[in-house]
Amino acid sequence: MLILKFGGTSVGSAERIKNLAELTKGQESKIVVLSAMSGTTNALVDISRALYEKNTKKAEELIDSLENKYKKEINDLYKNEAILQKGKELIDFHFQYIRSFVKFPVFTSKEEKILLIQGELLSTAMFHYYLNETGEKSVLLPALDFMKTNEDNEPDLPYIEERIKEELHKYPDATFFITQGYICRNAQGDIDNLQRGGSDYTACILGAVIDAREIQIWTDIDGMHNNDPRFVDKTHPIDELSFDEAAELAYFGAKILHPTCILPAQKRGIPVALKNTMQPEAKGTLIGNIKTPDGIRAVAAKDGIYTVTVRSGRMLLAYGFLKTIFDIFEKYKTSIDVITTSEVAVSLTIDNPDNLDAIVAELEEIANVEVAKNQTIIAIVGNIAKNEAGYGAKILNAFKNIPLHMISYGGSEHNISVVIDSKHKKEALQSLNSGLFGY
Ligand code: ASP
Ligand code: MG
Repeated sequence: MLILKFGGTSVGSAERIKNLAELTKGQESKIVVLSAMSGTTNALVDISRALYEKNTKKAEELIDSLENKYKKEINDLYKNEAILQKGKELIDFHFQYIRSFVKFPVFTSKEEKILLIQGELLSTAMFHYYLNETGEKSVLLPALDFMKTNEDNEPDLPYIEERIKEELHKYPDATFFITQGYICRNAQGDIDNLQRGGSDYTACILGAVIDAREIQIWTDIDGMHNNDPRFVDKTHPIDELSFDEAAELAYFGAKILHPTCILPAQKRGIPVALKNTMQPEAKGTLIGNIKTPDGIRAVAAKDGIYTVTVRSGRMLLAYGFLKTIFDIFEKYKTSIDVITTSEVAVSLTIDNPDNLDAIVAELEEIANVEVAKNQTIIAIVGNIAKNEAGYGAKILNAFKNIPLHMISYGGSEHNISVVIDSKHKKEALQSLNSGLFGY
């Protein structure tokens, strides 16, 4: 079985939904995982904000404009009168429901989560009806029946595995299943989601638990690129990546794949293919248990980073100091990405400043603390063999005109991280593009 995941732009209009039906035709049995139509989840977030602010007028305007978009697409999508009618009823149903939150006196995160899942419910039903019109038999599986997180807000894999298998067994002759990405229930059974961009995660979780032949993530670029095309002129797609390389790249900013995604696929060794909806024949990027060649494969950048430097004479020749520091970050559930140390100081990076003030206050009880914001991690990813000379020189040479705040080399053979001021990011990516990839 295959898992095929399509993002918002792939279902972004009637035209795109029709293309999608073409693209997903074929013999092999599959589960198609869909995001909401592009712009929808953002619009639902805006509607939620208006409702939190009790700005009824604004909420109503936003709802009207979103509904109008759907009404238009529906008219372009279906030819068959009966199916068009069903489509209209679908839109009416969801938008009446969305409107009910405007009248409801309370709006909390619980209501917000219910609002946020409407986009995926709409897109999957619209696609299902369209397949129906073309004569393709499909089964729409509600993700709320099997996608669930546990007490730690992590996907509850044993539950998901058991439930999805039961659902699939109900349809022994079916080969075309559709379900919603992103949406799930939490440990309490309430409606929840896997965080923004979470449809990739749904696809990878499902692929892992049903032991899929392949998980395909379809977007509108041709796979993972060696550099960020928004900042450098020339980039190329990467044919193959090992799971470790892909995890580093996704985590450190390659926008094409949600970072949490790799783990479930990697655990069960299910290959993940990144494909381009606009060029289905193109090779894209294949991620798997692949022995990729030595060398640097790609660079990626992650913005919004804070560096925290902790300096103390007490660290000199002492043990346990790092533990004391890490315990403070752990207490505030703040994860650390890059670390560098000297005998009297430690610098580390975080990307979530929610508890930064409290963390700094506690650190200041034991050391001097300096915080810098607007930092960027540049990750250089590949098979960077430790017994081969030259990588460090090549990389540092590309940074020769840029002040470096941290360098982390040697933690993994797949990643060298450099932290710089965000204002130098573009220059750094361009310089690495010529220095490492010859552009
Ligand atoms: N629709 C959700 C979002 O926009 C989930 C996704 O597209 O992956 O974040
Ligand atoms: Mg996405």
